[in-house]
Amino acid sequence: MEKTIFHRILGRELPADIVYEDEQVMAFKDINPKAPTHILFIPKEYIASITDLTPKNAHIPGMLILKAKEFATANKIDGYKLVFHVGRGGGQEVFYLHLHFLSQERLPKGVGDTA
Ligand code: 5GP
Repeated sequence: MEKTIFHRILGRELPADIVYEDEQVMAFKDINPKAPTHILFIPKEYIASITDLTPKNAHIPGMLILKAKEFATANKIDGYKLVFHVGRGGGQEVFYLHLHFLSQERLPKGVGDTA
């Protein structure tokens, strides 16, 4: 299997503005944000896309949503959108499952700032 960009971010071979990490997920700022706050949540357990969901790995999207909700609460973001692009026809470009977290609200200063 070919490594995706997100494998390389997870392996810290590529830099990213990481805003959250634990044993199950990593979350980092989207390089081309479509909202004032645009974060991508990825699972550490690899799955390419929602199209690859099976009963065995169906817990993963729910886990990403839970982490996104906890992240919003921790950062005092009240309103946001959560989006999965599914397949090329659904706008998916990176075949490493990711949840888009988009908000018109901004993260508190310092969260994920590399400088
Ligand atoms: P998709 O269209 O696959 O759902 O979303 C992929 C997202 O990854 C896009 O919003 C794109 O801006 C973002 N992205 C692509 N390459 C990189 C990268 O190297 N670093 C970061 N942080 N985001 C990326």
